[in-house]
Amino acid sequence: MEINKLLDIAGTYRNTSFLGRYISQETIDSFINTFPETHKSIIGTSVEKRPITQLKLGEGSIKVLMWSQMHGNETTTTKALIDFIGFLQSNSAEAKEILSQISFTIIPQLNPDGAKAYTRVNKNAVDLNRDAQDCTQPESRAFKKVYKELQPHFCFNLHDQRTIFGVGKPAKPATVSFLSPAFNDSRALNDTREKAMKLIVYMNQSLQETIPNQVGRYDDGFNLNCVGDTLQNLGFPTILFEAGHFQNDYQRAETRKFIFISLLKGIWGIIKNKYEDVDYRDYFKIPENEKCFYDILIKNIGNREDSLAIQYKEVLKDNKLIFLPFLVKEIGKKFTYGHHEIDAKGAILTINSILDFSKITEIQEISLDGKKFSLNLTKT
Ligand SMILES: [Zn+2]
Repeated sequence: MEINKLLDIAGTYRNTSFLGRYISQETIDSFINTFPETHKSIIGTSVEKRPITQLKLGEGSIKVLMWSQMHGNETTTTKALIDFIGFLQSNSAEAKEILSQISFTIIPQLNPDGAKAYTRVNKNAVDLNRDAQDCTQPESRAFKKVYKELQPHFCFNLHDQRTIFGVGKPAKPATVSFLSPAFNDSRALNDTREKAMKLIVYMNQSLQETIPNQVGRYDDGFNLNCVGDTLQNLGFPTILFEAGHFQNDYQRAETRKFIFISLLKGIWGIIKNKYEDVDYRDYFKIPENEKCFYDILIKNIGNREDSLAIQYKEVLKDNKLIFLPFLVKEIGKKFTYGHHEIDAKGAILTINSILDFSKITEIQEISLDGKKFSLNLTKT
């Protein structure tokens, strides 16, 4: 499927009930309520007894398992997934063809308590992506039951990553990152892992046509407590998707589209067997993600080479997410890029109208030579 076609479908099936970074329970519930009863079921409940729902689509022999918001504050892939479901429910020829060959099992929110509170962890403060072996949490047990019964042919593990990740030199934001997780300590290769690698390379071909040099490869350090590593270890080819930052897109409205394109391209590659011709070694040509970005970087302070970094903290307020700027105390030399860069050379820099930055955590205002910087610091 050509890139223009992928972009066209992504635009057509964008669900406008889902906007912004926070997904309220009402929004997701009303979406799930529209889904036919025969094609949805509750796989378990969260710590706070919220239902965890799975949706079923398609009649095909290839079983694909997709889940999002295992980390409650990672909603971009959920929105892309909702758009993708909308496309699958359309009567388009492509959707029909996909549904004739694939049976989807989709869990839009695996961690509904974390989704409600906008936290990475669940209500018991456990990172579900470190609970794959012990399954101490009800969400982990519900999920394990699903994949044990399903025995999926492919698993799509959907996440968001922080704005700190970049790729290349000079770095660009890592708008989408992928990983074919390791299945053992030595990070060896086998058919399962190579299958996931090939599919990643295949999806990346389209992404490079629309976001060149903004796709990264995630670190493959092995940890069997992670869900992806466990699934790969069990022989289910698994792909980690990470939705990241795109230039000036803190709401990740653009990134949502690139995730949609990846999902559709990947699934199309599966039903057309196209990804099988790919050389898995090309996976290693995708540059590794690096932690090299700050949200705002102020360079050349006081005629020295010093720089000051500012990161946004995502805070939920009245069902809306706001981005509060705070000062990063440690300045690492390897952090060299800002999504927004300010040159303070020769100017007197003040933050909150004071010169002593050591006392500052939350930032209200940045000024150069008494002139307020035009940046709208608190993004809503
Ligand atoms: Zn995550």
